[in-house]
Amino acid sequence: MKLHHSPINKITFQNYSFFIKRDDLLHKDFSGNKARKFHYFLHNEFPNINKVISYGSNQSNAMYSLSVLCKLKGWKFDYYVDHIPSYLKDNPNGNYKYALQNGMNIIEAKPPQNIDDKTLFLDEGGAIKEASFGIEILASEIKQWAVQNRFENINIFLPSGTGTTALYLQKYLPFKVYTCACVADEDYLKLQFNNLEKQNHPIILKTPKKFHFGKLYKQNYEIWQELKDQTNIEFDLLYDPIGWQTLLQSDLISQDTPILYIHQGGIIGNITMIQRYDRKLNPHQL
Ligand SMILES: *Cc1c(COP(=O)(O)O)cnc(C)c1O
Repeated sequence: MKLHHSPINKITFQNYSFFIKRDDLLHKDFSGNKARKFHYFLHNEFPNINKVISYGSNQSNAMYSLSVLCKLKGWKFDYYVDHIPSYLKDNPNGNYKYALQNGMNIIEAKPPQNIDDKTLFLDEGGAIKEASFGIEILASEIKQWAVQNRFENINIFLPSGTGTTALYLQKYLPFKVYTCACVADEDYLKLQFNNLEKQNHPIILKTPKKFHFGKLYKQNYEIWQELKDQTNIEFDLLYDPIGWQTLLQSDLISQDTPILYIHQGGIIGNITMIQRYDRKLNPHQL
């Protein structure tokens, strides 16, 4: 399997123009920034490896993408979580459901300390050095597009979790990369940047308020819906609503420099988020 260039669309949202890098359309089964971060493992041969071990939340996009990778590679996939709620066990859904269908072996325990040499251990969310391989390719697609369109300068924006994607984009792009912290706070994000590279960090913009990761906010659902209505693009419900609110209240939108927003996928994760929002916002509906 090969990954091809993802398209770039021009959209208008709230009367401002943006370009969107559609990494949600990278590949039918393997898309978004997790596909970019794990591209290295797809691209290279690992004759001695027969298993991947990772850990994190029971609905994570990284978990799903690793299940696809392992299926393609013929590797076993052990994924460690703190806890699987009984309603999810009884009604598998979203990333969890599709990762199980791909053969994921999910284990409620702490990840093991000792790993044998036939196993790849991958940190939560794909915050790994190998991620630079796929993100350099993403950067080269962006540079090529900028040249074709004769843009001398563009501003890049994308919301961050671990910050791995934003950091490596900044490393490989001659343009400024802006981001915001969706998991924890700015200090956490700076720490994450420092773990991967000591310099050339993306610029962190302030979010309009403190959001607790994974919690439901009416305003997040509303901007997500508004984006869908005005642009016909489905964004993710965890990171993108925070990203768009941050971008729209920043100085970037009043500048002449074109803005390229990176759509980092995560649409399968929306299935369970939409159900949660339905229960919260329409509690009396059956
Ligand atoms: C994982 C993910 C992010 C965060 O990526 P980082 O590289 O950890 O910052 C953002 N958006 C979506 C849709 C994701 O799945």
